[in-house]
Amino acid sequence: MTRSTTLDPRRPEHTGENRCWPCTVVNVALVAVAAAAVSVVSPSTAGAVAVVGLALVWLRGYVVPGTPRFAPRLVAPIPGSDALFHGTAATDGGDRAPDGESGSLDPADVDGEELLDRLLAEGVLEIDGDAVAPTAAYRERWRAETDRLRAEDTESLAAIARDISPAAAARAVSEDGDEWVALSPPDGNTIDETWLRRPVAIAEIAGYRAAEPFLSDDSIRLAAARTNRMFLEACPDCGGDLERGVDMPCCGGHTGPGEEPAETLACPACEVRLYTFPRE
Ligand SMILES: [Zn+2]
Repeated sequence: MTRSTTLDPRRPEHTGENRCWPCTVVNVALVAVAAAAVSVVSPSTAGAVAVVGLALVWLRGYVVPGTPRFAPRLVAPIPGSDALFHGTAATDGGDRAPDGESGSLDPADVDGEELLDRLLAEGVLEIDGDAVAPTAAYRERWRAETDRLRAEDTESLAAIARDISPAAAARAVSEDGDEWVALSPPDGNTIDETWLRRPVAIAEIAGYRAAEPFLSDDSIRLAAARTNRMFLEACPDCGGDLERGVDMPCCGGHTGPGEEPAETLACPACEVRLYTFPRE
């Protein structure tokens, strides 16, 4: 992706073919609300707010930071919005992954290669032919912990998640029939909460507990729990088969020209994405 200058307001990754309609619609609505609010004080300024706001949405795809995270959920209750915004063609193959990457118990970034070396050295993972896989000892503990946690309600999972993660607080959230564990960051603000779907929370707590005899440091155990979601063989919550899919080019799952969409691992029964494989 080349841009003539960093001051260029255009964002080709969010416009043209890549424009995300939920983001655009939500932002146009928000610009209208902002302009209406300003017009109470100054009608002429309101006109400027509307013009600048709409121009930015046109050039950049969206003006409100974080739009790709909340827009799809905001428009989801509108009948037909899924077909309208995501395109029916995308769902014909049946392999479109559930939207959005779930959060993690530990959002901290770790060096992937360092982590892999460590997990191989400590017996969490092993080389299996030309692939890497969990060792039998780790997998057995992981499975046993998963079975135990599956029986817990989401409130209990939230309490365990708070105890083992750096989160300041955790709560169970139920929304449209989906169960989430919401974690607030160590500084306690609730705007940047991390939300984990229930199967993801089970996978990570189980992975963290299973790693106890292998790893002494908490941060590495959490990082291992996050990475090891890629090795899941069944849904940690319902026990059903998982499906490989692709991340569709919408709202955070964007792919640029010539870029392959990321592969995903998801539970079709729970409609939960359990892992997004990094692009090659
Ligand atoms: Zn499931």
